[in-house]
Amino acid sequence: MPNRNTANAHWTRRTHLLRADEYICSRCRRSFAQPTAFCPACGAQMGKTKSDAHWLLEAEVLNMIMDDEEW
Ligand SMILES: [Zn+2]
Repeated sequence: MPNRNTANAHWTRRTHLLRADEYICSRCRRSFAQPTAFCPACGAQMGKTKSDAHWLLEAEVLNMIMDDEEW
């Protein structure tokens, strides 16, 4: 039986195009520069790190900006 207070948390790795990656706690939604075994903010025990393709969105936005330029 998993402990209800510490189970079901994970880091979401958010990869950015123009700045450092961050890891977001699934429980308290705070972000940190490094993934740790326990969330420093809410103390949740972390399972697998999931990745977030947020940088793809940022790349798309960049492309749109580039497309606006008329050469
Ligand atoms: Zn947390």
